[in-house]
Amino acid sequence: MERTCACCGMRFLPHPAVIKVLYQRYCSDPECQRARKRQWQKEKRAKDSDYREAQTKAQRQWCSRNPDYWRRYRQRNPAYAERNRQEQRERNRRRRLIAKMDALKAENAIIPGCYRLVPVCNGLIAKMDELIVEIGVISKGFSAGAQIGP
Ligand SMILES: [Zn+2]
Repeated sequence: MERTCACCGMRFLPHPAVIKVLYQRYCSDPECQRARKRQWQKEKRAKDSDYREAQTKAQRQWCSRNPDYWRRYRQRNPAYAERNRQEQRERNRRRRLIAKMDALKAENAIIPGCYRLVPVCNGLIAKMDELIVEIGVISKGFSAGAQIGP
């Protein structure tokens, strides 16, 4: 009963003890076993909030015991550090763009009140024909058939 490894795609024979208890999807290659563990942890973190909190706490404690680890890791792996920098730059750029769009939306919001409505003829403003209009804000659920005011 051969199976295909979910990590490397190689055919393998499941361990006879494992076959009865659970469906073995990864071969015994150490790299595939690490992939299996990563996948398990990913699913566990997504489903189990207690597990997630415990992991975060343990990670924080480890970081405080090894404060120089990431700085040294970045020094040893410049390609990793550079990729991280670029990804962070992209995140910052996107965040600025969203903030800009929000600001624009706020600026362009119509303020309720009275406005002068002036017709434009051939690019000239016809002042005598101006109308005073009142603009009010209507809620999203408004339908055209509904009445405004009394
Ligand atoms: Zn494998």
